[in-house]
Amino acid sequence: MKSCGVSLTTAAVAFGDEAKKMAAGKASREGEEEPLSLTVEEREALGDMDSRLFGFVRLHEDGARTKTLLGKAVRCYESLILKAEGKVESDFFCQLGHFNLLLEDYSKALSAYQRYYSLQADYWKNAAFLYGLGLVYFYYNAFHWAIKAFQDVLYVDPSFCRAKEIHLRLGLMFKVNTDYKSSLKHFQLALIDCNPCTLSSAEIQFHIAHLYETQRKYHSAKEAYEQLLQTENLPAQVKATVLQQLGWMHHNMDLVGDKATKESYAIPYLQKSLEADPNSGQSWYFLGRCYSSIGKVQDAFVSYRQSIDKSEASADTWCSIGVLYQQQNQPMDALQAYICAVQLDHGHAAAWMDLGTLYESCNQPQDAIKCYLNAARSKRCSNTSTLAARIKFLQAQLCNLPQSSLQNKTKLLPSIEEAWSLPIPAELTSRQGAMNTAQQNGSDNWNGGQSLSHHPVQQVYSLCLTPQKLQHLEQLRANRDNLNPAQKHQLEQLESQFVLMQQMRHKEVAQGLHKSQSSCLSGPNEEQPLFSTGSAQYHQATSTGIKKSNEHLTLPSNSVPQGDADSHLSSHTATSGGQQGIMFTKESKPSKNRSLVPETSRHTGDPSNGCADVKGLSNHVHQLIADAVSSPNHGDSPNLLIADNPQLSALLIGKANGNVGTGTCDKVNNIHPAVHTKTDHSVASSPSSAISTATPSPKSTEQRSINSVTSLNSPHSGLHTVNGEGLGNSQSSTKVDLPLVSHRSTSQIIPSMSVSICPSSTEVLKACRNPGKNGLSNSCILLDKCPPPRPPTSPYPPLPKDKLNPPTPSIYLENKRDAFFPPLHQFCTNPKNPVTVIRGLAGALKLDLGLFSTKTLVEANNEHIVEVRTQLLQPADENWDPTGTKKIWRCESNRSHTTIAKYAQYQASSFQESLREENEKRTQHKDHSDNESTSSENSGRRRKGPFKTIKFGTNIDLSDNKKWKLQLHELTKLPAFARVVSAGNLLSHVGHTILGMNTVQLYMKVPGSRTPGHQENNNFCSVNINIGPGDCEWFVVPEDYWGVLNDFCEKNNLNFLMSSWWPNLEDLYEANVPVYRFIQRPGDLVWINAGTVHWVQAVGWCNNIAWNVGPLTACQYKLAVERYEWNKLKSVKSPVPMVHLSWNMARNIKVSDPKLFEMIKYCLLKILKQCQTLREALVAAGKEVIWHGRTNDEPAHYCSICEVEVFNLLFVTNESNTQKTYIVHCQDCARKTSRSLENFVVLEQYKIEDLIQVYDQFTLALSLSSSS
Ligand SMILES: [Zn+2]
Repeated sequence: MKSCGVSLTTAAVAFGDEAKKMAAGKASREGEEEPLSLTVEEREALGDMDSRLFGFVRLHEDGARTKTLLGKAVRCYESLILKAEGKVESDFFCQLGHFNLLLEDYSKALSAYQRYYSLQADYWKNAAFLYGLGLVYFYYNAFHWAIKAFQDVLYVDPSFCRAKEIHLRLGLMFKVNTDYKSSLKHFQLALIDCNPCTLSSAEIQFHIAHLYETQRKYHSAKEAYEQLLQTENLPAQVKATVLQQLGWMHHNMDLVGDKATKESYAIPYLQKSLEADPNSGQSWYFLGRCYSSIGKVQDAFVSYRQSIDKSEASADTWCSIGVLYQQQNQPMDALQAYICAVQLDHGHAAAWMDLGTLYESCNQPQDAIKCYLNAARSKRCSNTSTLAARIKFLQAQLCNLPQSSLQNKTKLLPSIEEAWSLPIPAELTSRQGAMNTAQQNGSDNWNGGQSLSHHPVQQVYSLCLTPQKLQHLEQLRANRDNLNPAQKHQLEQLESQFVLMQQMRHKEVAQGLHKSQSSCLSGPNEEQPLFSTGSAQYHQATSTGIKKSNEHLTLPSNSVPQGDADSHLSSHTATSGGQQGIMFTKESKPSKNRSLVPETSRHTGDPSNGCADVKGLSNHVHQLIADAVSSPNHGDSPNLLIADNPQLSALLIGKANGNVGTGTCDKVNNIHPAVHTKTDHSVASSPSSAISTATPSPKSTEQRSINSVTSLNSPHSGLHTVNGEGLGNSQSSTKVDLPLVSHRSTSQIIPSMSVSICPSSTEVLKACRNPGKNGLSNSCILLDKCPPPRPPTSPYPPLPKDKLNPPTPSIYLENKRDAFFPPLHQFCTNPKNPVTVIRGLAGALKLDLGLFSTKTLVEANNEHIVEVRTQLLQPADENWDPTGTKKIWRCESNRSHTTIAKYAQYQASSFQESLREENEKRTQHKDHSDNESTSSENSGRRRKGPFKTIKFGTNIDLSDNKKWKLQLHELTKLPAFARVVSAGNLLSHVGHTILGMNTVQLYMKVPGSRTPGHQENNNFCSVNINIGPGDCEWFVVPEDYWGVLNDFCEKNNLNFLMSSWWPNLEDLYEANVPVYRFIQRPGDLVWINAGTVHWVQAVGWCNNIAWNVGPLTACQYKLAVERYEWNKLKSVKSPVPMVHLSWNMARNIKVSDPKLFEMIKYCLLKILKQCQTLREALVAAGKEVIWHGRTNDEPAHYCSICEVEVFNLLFVTNESNTQKTYIVHCQDCARKTSRSLENFVVLEQYKIEDLIQVYDQFTLALSLSSSS
């Protein structure tokens, strides 16, 4: 970042000279515009400006002068670059990128940054550049790239002044990507930082609370929200949103008990929210839902009306209004409300479904089918299978009816096509006019009172398109590309008429609300709504108890579905209407399947709808807020981004003018077509299109581009057209390649430098004694900075397809001598063998595996803790989403705990049960079951499920030598290289326990138990012995393909290091990734070599034992250090403290492998230098370094905030130092909470002289490696 400041000055100076020359040159030419040039003062002012100012220059207020200056600078730079035909210093482009970023001209910023990237090989040293680039990507919702850029900044400069802003944005992006662990970590890192950032800490806390809610951790969420409410001077907008979330959560979740109790909590929260922000349409909507749920129909109507009044038209609100009407036996009104909903949001599955149910209840099965088809096409449809069954059922019914019976029947409701295009019927509007006259509340500004009731209706009629005209319109649209001018004109006219017509209709229906509200309040309603004396079926279904009372029209109790107060009619018709188990709409889904997120958020997420951006604010975090509230993983579509309620986005805008920013994927797509595949847009946009063909009608495209255009309200709109037709243009104009794709050679963490280059400690110290200006950063004086680590690209050339199933390296042992034969060790650790199966090991060594049998384990320690993973029993080598619709990578499991005794019981009963089932199958359907098993093997794409749940007893800790004496002793019979503890095992030199790594873990399995894909901690080797009696199946991918798997994880919105994933073998095959696959029988030992990716499932009932081993090889050390750095980049803790370990190695081990030696020595040197530099700087700044020393078995230290290893100089809070609890921080985290470290003491654990001595005495051994 410093370098950038310098580069700016040089650039500005250079420019100044250039400008003078230009001015001189131009002066001779008459009549030309005065050339631009920057004054010295201007250049100085610009010298301080780069990406770090983003969000802190108020261009719209007092920053007008800055803006002018930046604009001028941009013009100067551009003309200079133009004049030089692009042949300028790369810094010019970087600076131009910064200026454009500060001016919020993102497309120009991006293209300038990309020029810089392509010209500057060590671009990664420039933190301000990476930060600016990250901000631009963030703006375009290209999160994948934004995350990479931001992580690079923190890696190259952990003390970066905008670290807080970065953590905040990383938190938001990971939240959207459903990587909740990472999200929480970054939010917390942002929260502890006392530097300024674009959100207040209350807002960050809100995000943390909402993160819990998104993860369905309701009690934690409630606690966090309530705690936030205690905050003094909480901004009204935050308060309103917190209360809104609390209210909605109480309405939806089983936090407090029965329905009435729920609402008694929810309603006051929402009312308080409205006190804090009376203009929140969302809160009004939620309030309406609560009232509706307890049968307070009038209140519900009032609230819904307020909602429509306060906010943008929302499909959800209309859908709920429809439900309310339908419950009141007003099918026509319900129809219109639903139509409004689906017109606003073509993919609103719930509204389509409810509409279908409405038609069904009115005995119009043909229309119902059309609606159900539309619902099923929506990607937000959660239960396509039941829906498909219903459609089939109705179609079958139709076939059985005589043709005449359908034709002759008078329809209760207009057909869906008519409903879609026809305006509000005259009866309704005129009645409404009357109602308005009688009841209109003067304060209502919505439809202007009675004056509107007749007049606009006339207008509607004049605008109304006849069916013929509509048909004509559709035809014209279909042939849009081949129209003559006259036809084009016609089309334009028809389309504008159509749009007007729809607008009018929405207004009309909105007015209808008045009517119903009025009718509710006004008692007897002479004029029944049209068709309200509907079919018997309708009444049977929904209105059994509805009577026209002289009093209020209240919702009869039996029309409220018993299961769920909010149930949409679809479910409720279904239960009363005969057909069982039919569709649930969003509101009637069983609560356990519910999304946490406000219902609305699931409906506004269609990228085709309202891809709006919040207007020209310098800080674009708020955009994300909307996206951030993505719905939790709905099983099959974790990466489907769901937009959120406007309220949330308003939270950050501070004014409720925000359109909801959605369509993340779209933008990403358009900027980086290669990054994501466009999601399916073919949700039918109009009933007609849905009915006639599955492809979207021209109209749908039209609709979308209209939407996207209306969203272009920011000054930089040119760029936003990414969504619609402008796609091609924006692509070509911005010329985006993928700057951060690592096409450059993979960085080397450890350069293979020769030993002779290693300076002696004296040289190091000399260099360190002269610290830089502020000397406090990690920047290198002697050694160059390391570029951020990158995963390896796929090995080239790709393997031919017939090499993708290589045979597994296996060794068969006959006797003990075989096991101790030295080449066995070499074979296992040979980097060419990613895995080795040592067959028959237990037999050869006469190991008593019975010591690890379930029976013995129970006898030994029956109360011992077992971690349980509840998983779905999946077909052999596949991983399906919970509904069995498609294969996915994600394989999450719930975690709980039990005891060995209890798990043993489960394991045994699972076995018994399976025996019983087998017997039954055998006796009853022998043939059938045979067929079934073969057919399921072959059906790669067939629908699966429902899946049985199984429990996997995992990570059982056998470290306690007293409890597991016999067992652990038995393992000392193994050959040294595979033992838990041995002199040649790096993990034995750590000096302390790393649970599960240098101690034994036990796994207790039933068939199907799965260990998801992973590399071992810090890429160490692992040893795994199957105890039996059943087998395990292994899948193994060589280390150099981990980058490919990492890519797959990213594509599937999974965190390679932290999430649970099960690779799809077809994906791997297509990507030319070789997969070793084998069966591990009882007594077989599986050796996983350093860095090998693997995943395992139990074939039968069995136990396994496993631990890690670190052979003393260059390959192991290199991969361990590389993963250590990668973990740092990814903010993941490294279980093996490599710095601490390296010093122990230098002290304890003689290394004879020159390559290994060089690497260790290099690392020591780097650390020595860092320690010295930091120490000098602290002392120079007057900070006392207190000698603390170390106890013998003292574990390595990690920062309690960011979890990086902290070596030698520990930053301990004063308080914890006094209490001797020693809460350790790294320097960067310490400075974030206390800039000049006044709250910290610095404890020193090693004397520099001692470290120097170790460093100098560590020399290359001549003989074979041996240990001290
Ligand atoms: Zn830290």
